[in-house]
This record gives sequence, C-alpha cells and structure tokens, in this order.
Amino acid sequence: MTDATVRFGLLVSMFQAMLRDRSAAKKRRRLRTFLDRVYTGRDYFSAMRLVLPALDRERGSYGLKESALAAALVDALGLARDSPDALRLVNWRRGGASRAGANAGNFALVAAEVLQRRQGMTSGGLTIKELNDALDQLAATENRAEKASILSGLIKKTNALEMKWILMIILKDLKLGISEKSIFHEFHPDAEELFNVTCDLKLVCEKLRDRSQRHKRQDIEVGKPVRPQLAMRVSDASAAWKKLHGKNVIVECKFDGDRIQIHKNGEEIHFFSRNFLDHPEYAPGMSKIIMQNILVDRCILDGEMLVWDTSTNRFAEFGSNQEIAKAAREGMESDRQLCYIAFDILYAGDTSVIHQSLAERQELLQKVVKPLKGQLDILIPNGGLNDHRPQGEPCWSIIAHNVEDVEKFFKETIENRDEGIVLKDLDSKWEPSDRSGKWLKLKPDYIHAGSDLDVLIIGGYFGSGRRGGEVAQFLVGLAERSDSSSFPKRFVSFCRVGTGLSDEELDALISKLKPYFRKNDNPRQAPRFYEVTNNAKERPDVWIESPDKSVIVSITSDIRTIKSEVFAAPYSLRFPRIHRVRYDKPWHECLDVQAFVDLVHSSNGN
Ligand code: ATP
Repeated sequence: MTDATVRFGLLVSMFQAMLRDRSAAKKRRRLRTFLDRVYTGRDYFSAMRLVLPALDRERGSYGLKESALAAALVDALGLARDSPDALRLVNWRRGGASRAGANAGNFALVAAEVLQRRQGMTSGGLTIKELNDALDQLAATENRAEKASILSGLIKKTNALEMKWILMIILKDLKLGISEKSIFHEFHPDAEELFNVTCDLKLVCEKLRDRSQRHKRQDIEVGKPVRPQLAMRVSDASAAWKKLHGKNVIVECKFDGDRIQIHKNGEEIHFFSRNFLDHPEYAPGMSKIIMQNILVDRCILDGEMLVWDTSTNRFAEFGSNQEIAKAAREGMESDRQLCYIAFDILYAGDTSVIHQSLAERQELLQKVVKPLKGQLDILIPNGGLNDHRPQGEPCWSIIAHNVEDVEKFFKETIENRDEGIVLKDLDSKWEPSDRSGKWLKLKPDYIHAGSDLDVLIIGGYFGSGRRGGEVAQFLVGLAERSDSSSFPKRFVSFCRVGTGLSDEELDALISKLKPYFRKNDNPRQAPRFYEVTNNAKERPDVWIESPDKSVIVSITSDIRTIKSEVFAAPYSLRFPRIHRVRYDKPWHECLDVQAFVDLVHSSNGN
C-alpha cells in the first residue's frame, strides 16, 4: 500500500477512540497502534501534521477562524444565508440546536449537527493524501469562493464525523485531551526536544523515523525558529519574590506587542512569531535598521515587536503592528513606526549562547545591538531603552534587591498602563519552550467597563514630532457631585488619553478648546475646579480654564480595581481610547465618581 491509499477515516477512528479513553496512557497507545499497524513504513509527517495541526508550518495559515469558516461552509453547503442552519453556523457560540446549548462555543460540534442532516454516515473514502492536498489548496487561496469550493469537494468525499475532524484540523485544535508533549513522546523520545529547537515537524518526522534509535542533541540554528522560553504566571509580587528567593533578579516591563525572534544571517533576515511563522511584512520597515545597527553577521535576537508613536513619545496600544508594517511597505509618512525591543540574544557569530547566563547574554546584547531610539532597542537594566525613557517616567527594567523593589516597579508599570512585569533569574540559561519558573509574569486583573465612560477634558499634553507644541493627549476627569440637583463644582483627575481620534477629529476638538487653554505655569497649582494628586504625570501642559468651557469625550477602557496612586480617582485604566467626542452632551453631565465606582462594582460582581 502506498501513502495515497490510507483513508482519513482510519485516523478519525483513532481520534474518536482517544476521545473515549480516560487516561493519557491509553490515548498514547492508540497513537502507537496507528503508527505501527496502519502507518508503518510510510511518510509519518502526512499523518502527524493532522494530529498536531497547530505545529504544522508547511502550509501557512488558512485565514479561517470560526466566523470565516462558518461563512465558507454556508456557501459550500449551498445554504440560504437566512436559513436556520446558516444562522446556526454563524451563531455557533450559542450552540446550535443542541439541548441546553451543550455545543455552545464549539464550532466543530455545531457544524457537525448541520452536516449530519446533509451528509449522513457513509464516508466518501477520502484518503489522507487527498485531504492534505485539499488543505494545501485551502491555505494557498485567499478567495472566499475558492475556499468554499474546496470545502464542498471535501464534503462530497466524507461523512459528517470525518468532516467534523477536518474542521477541527482547520481550526488547529483537536481537543483530544492529550498533550502535545505526550504525543511527541509516543512518537519518539527525542521528538519534543528536536521540535523545540527547529519548529519543524516535517524534519522531526523524517529524522526520527526509528523509535529505537536515539538522536544526538541538536542546538539551535540561525534560520530555524526556536520555541520561545515562556513565563509562569504568579499572583502577586511576594509570590514572585518567594519563588526567586536568593536569586539575582531582573524585573522588566511586559511589553504588549508580538513576540518576535529576529534571525539575521548576512543579508537574510527572518521575523519568526510564536507560532513559528515568518513575518516578511516586517522587512520593509525593519531590515535596513537591522542591517545598520546589528553589529554581527549572524545572530538570533529574542524580543517584542511594537509600534512607537513619535508624536506622543510612547508605544502605541497593542494591535497596530500590521497596519504600521503595511504603511512602511507602502512608504507612507506616519508618526508611528515599528520598534523592536530585544530583551535577549540566543545566537551570535557562529555559536548558540542559550546555555550562558542571562547576565552574560545581556552583556553580549549590548555589544551586538546599537540602540536606535524608537526603532531598535535593547532591554537592559542600566542603559539601552532605559536611557531613552522620557524624563520623569519610570524605568523599563531594574535589578530588584527586595520585594519592595518589585512592588514599586509593578505599580509604576501599571500606572503607565503597561501590561505587567516579567521577573527573570539573571543566572538562568534560556530554554526552549520552558515555563518552569525562570521567568515569572505578573499582570493585574482588569475588568471590562462594559460601556463607554463619558468624562470631561480638564487638561492637555503637548505631543512631539509632528504634533510638537500642539496638544496631542488629554487629561480627563470625573465629576464630584454634592447633590444631584446642582452642577458639579469639582472634577477629579482620572486618566490620560490620547488615541482613538482621527487627525481631523483631533484638530476640530483642539480648535474648539484652544481659546480656553491656560498654560500650566505653576506646576503645584491646578485651577481650583480640579482635584489632582502631587504626581508629575497629572501635570498637563495646559489646563482648561474652567469645566463649563470644556467638552465631554466617551472613552472605552478596561479598568483595574485598585487604588490608583497617580491619578486622583480610585482606579486605573488600561488602553483608554477616545471613542467619540460628545459635543451633544453638556459638560455637567459628565460621569461622576460615585456612578463610576458603582459601575466598577457591578461589573466586578461585588
Ligand atoms: P500572555 O498572554 O500573558 O502574553 P503568553 O502565553 O503569550 O502570555 P508568556 O510566556 O506567558 O506568554 O509570557 C511571556 C510573553 O510576554 C512573551 O511571549 C512576550 O511576548 C511577552 N513579553 C513582553 N515583554 C517581555 C519581556 N520583557 N520579557 C519576556 N517576555 C516579554
């Protein structure tokens, strides 16, 4: 029998049996039986890529998350868009027609219900090879009609059960109740380790065909993505400190961008993300900078790709990387640019350095990377990005000597609305895929406000670059109401917010407010209407003369329910964005402190 003749149905029988098995050992035995009895002597990769679809990087992304897959299936099945089955697929989160929504949130199960009514139990005899070919085509096209037609071809050659598993393969999550580690281990004792340093499932399947033959340890290589070192979550600063007791600890800001490994080999540069895919879209914005500022011919850097806003001198909120990469590719002028922060180095010159201590690697990092503000930087406690921090703002990384240092750094990071902190053992080596606690992450818990917050602008901050000398961000406040019948007389400063408006909207808002801007000449004295703390962050460059001259803006944000020590209101916000300007709402209808506190408590379930 050649590979081309093995039916996908046999793999489906194994999946189904694994679902019934209670113990991991039994599940593992199923895989072994399949490989030995059905697949022995064959191309293991063709089956293993269907068992571990999330690790298969040969065919890239299908561009089909649940909602797109639902739409493609509706077309593939020729359903009318408003038919009950089409609606079931589109509204899969509600769980289709199953009793008490048992399938809610599981797209493949909802789809299986719909398919069952159309496909029945008889398989069309699809082979594993045919399935892989179809999946290749599915990944190769971006055209929705073509995707639907490929799915329709598969539907003709399968039954509903097989189709359910195909959908799970496309969604890259089989929910088999067996870890990837166990699957690797059953395949070959060295499989996991080899995969971790190559991220190449095909190579693993080809090199480790013989389970009885051990493979010699392989080191990382430039050009092959490595599975990243990961961080273990801890609940608070003292738990973190306890865990790293007696160690030399560095604490870093947890940046909220894309984890990217930069592999540079002469002029060849790769940008590998966490799912091992290369992101050539970063090349137009970054390659030249890398060529000029990385001082070795070959290296691997580990770090975070972010967007730097030159007008506000801050990192932009998460989610704008792709847009900015595109703008760079098209040569568009923008205040925003890609910025890579290297926090580690894994390879330099002709050797891997992951076995060296973090302290040694950081020293090397300084020799290898020439920092370029807002574009390419390094995260080391004394220097690098820390040298580029605007005056008065906290550091990006520190050496911690006690738990108080950690607490203080954590608070500052949160007040700065960063995502959290990462603590690292300075004596530890870098280990692929390790989450055993050499790195710890501490993040605050945020709740979603649920609705927009209508707050009053009470001050403005100047931007730099294109918006230099012009207000680019605002200080907003909440009303303090003595009784409900009179207008509020005081406003409590609440947060600083800059993003969300288009250039035109911002310009219109500024020209409306400009006549009432009053320079903040005496930083110790805010106008009597405003209540602020003594923190420098709360000192805008201009105040609004009086609240009745101001404008309400709706902001969206997540809220952290601890006392904010920077702004006068008792909570801090994450990613506040102006949603719209409420010219229609009079200033005195601003959200008041008590209503906000109630809102937080109700969203919090308190
Ligand atoms: P999360 O959703 O919390 O980011 P995760 O599972 O993606 O979790 P973890 O390994 O738990 O990843 O947390 C580490 C992640 O934090 C890294 O993948 C990286 O993207 C990001 N990160 C940001 N700043 C740092 C830093 N200074 N050092 C290490 N990782 C950092």
